[in-house]
Amino acid sequence: MEERLQKILAGAGVASRRKCEELILGGKVQVNGETVTALGTKADPDVDEITVDGKAIGTEKKMYLVFNKPKGVITSASDPQGRKIVTDYLKGITERLYPVGRLDYDTEGLLLLTNDGEFAHLLTHPKHHVAKTYLATVKGVPHGSELDKLKNGIMLEDGMTAPAEVEYHDIDSEQRHSTISITIYEGRNRQVRRMFEAINHPVTKLKRISFGDLFLGNMKRGLFRHLTKDEVESLV
Ligand code: URA
Repeated sequence: MEERLQKILAGAGVASRRKCEELILGGKVQVNGETVTALGTKADPDVDEITVDGKAIGTEKKMYLVFNKPKGVITSASDPQGRKIVTDYLKGITERLYPVGRLDYDTEGLLLLTNDGEFAHLLTHPKHHVAKTYLATVKGVPHGSELDKLKNGIMLEDGMTAPAEVEYHDIDSEQRHSTISITIYEGRNRQVRRMFEAINHPVTKLKRISFGDLFLGNMKRGLFRHLTKDEVESLV
């Protein structure tokens, strides 16, 4: 069946869909020996020979990992400032993996990594509303009415947030800090931090504990494991 070239490339694990578009625009992709640079181009992976820099696609095995990202690690493939990056922790993995969405440098917890571009695209597309739960330690103890604002949706500089599920998780005995569990269905930049800033309780520690049906559990910081087939299927 004919499909858009960037979709075929992403599905074959070449890179994320956006990165595949860059590869096409950069003249790196050939269909039946001809370089293609137009993004709308369609091809049939069962019939056409599709290559990236001359190498046939579809030969890489799909891989899905869950990683407990420590704080102080960058969620990207490289860092010009030489800070630690997620792939520094993936010892023994030679496949080119990329993260499904992002966690801030200072956020820890559950991060999915894959070379399946379609899977990554599905899970990060806003229309799919995947639940992501965080434990946010914040300054002070927000009042119930402040948490209601987060539950109902709150105005941020990039618009109203969708309703979130919010619960008290822990309150320190001197009430200087509290930990709130918050589930959001969007993935805007620094969203949880900005939501708590909007109610004047800035986040001091942030940890993602679940993504869709997947839970971090007692996985140690800095370690990863492969998802089971059932887990992969439960996410999409
Ligand atoms: N929200 C944030 O503010 N930071 C993250 O890393 C994830 C969600």
